[in-house]
Amino acid sequence: MKQRPTTLNDEVKQALDEALQRYSGNHHGKNASYIPYLASVPSNLFGISIMFCDGTHAEVGDTDYAFAIESISKVFTLAHVLDEVGPQVLRSKIGCDPTGEPFNSVIALELHKGRPLNPFVNAGAMATVSLIKADNAKDRWDQIQTTYNAFAGRELPVNEEVYQSEADTNQHNRGIAWLLQSYGYMHADPMQVCDVYTRQCSVSITCHDLVTMGVTLANGGVNPITGKRVVAAKNVAPILSEMTLNGLYDTTGDWYYKVGLPGKSGVGGGILAVVPGVCAIAAFAPPLDVAGNSVRGQLAAEHLSRTLNLSLLHEFA
Ligand code: GLN
Repeated sequence: MKQRPTTLNDEVKQALDEALQRYSGNHHGKNASYIPYLASVPSNLFGISIMFCDGTHAEVGDTDYAFAIESISKVFTLAHVLDEVGPQVLRSKIGCDPTGEPFNSVIALELHKGRPLNPFVNAGAMATVSLIKADNAKDRWDQIQTTYNAFAGRELPVNEEVYQSEADTNQHNRGIAWLLQSYGYMHADPMQVCDVYTRQCSVSITCHDLVTMGVTLANGGVNPITGKRVVAAKNVAPILSEMTLNGLYDTTGDWYYKVGLPGKSGVGGGILAVVPGVCAIAAFAPPLDVAGNSVRGQLAAEHLSRTLNLSLLHEFA
């Protein structure tokens, strides 16, 4: 069986170059447009980063371009809430099962009497934000921001233009927040929670930030660059379980089949894959498939997973 790399080497660098070359001419998919700002991001941007648990890393393409974290934020808010309330509360109040429906589905909520099923659909993500013990909106937001900054090892800005664009058009999410409230799954003021959730989605990150955030999970919750613990070691497996089951919405199964790794995507075009104990891969390319996942980002992750033998099912690859 082929060895997996555990640190940066020439084979890894070559695989990154190949992925960029092979897929930069792929023009499938479309930028998200239901958030007007996202439609204006240049579609040809493409960046790929990898970072190992020893901190060695490499990146190719547009890895310095700052994009909106969007749904990938849900992973890091989950980390914060797991540290506050623990996995049992999270599982009973939200869950870890696929809804089988798109990430903003109202039908999925209705079918399960308001139980969101997992923290990575919008309903579950807002329910997660509502579980943060906070006195007011600022306190709720500050806790989220502090956690994200610790994962990235730097202060991440909010893109106010993205926030405004999304806040002006998030009526559907507001509807979901009220539905959660009506069913007893919203644990704080619904409009405050929806607004804080919208703000968390507007955090601006580069591929380099994203790979650092991801490798912190791969490394058992310790950011390898800052050396600081960001999430309790016992809470990393629950996070990776959620990513395995629900990271790419209703096409998570397809992703797992091809890549074999816990992942998470966002409609800003970012995508993250975590190889526990080894490394993380982050990619950014704005055009999305119908489920809302970056087309080139998925292809890049698949290429790296196959070439470097990173799949968790690698013994059978
Ligand atoms: N902010 C987006 C929303 O709530 C995030 C969705 C996503 O990235 N899938 O609709």
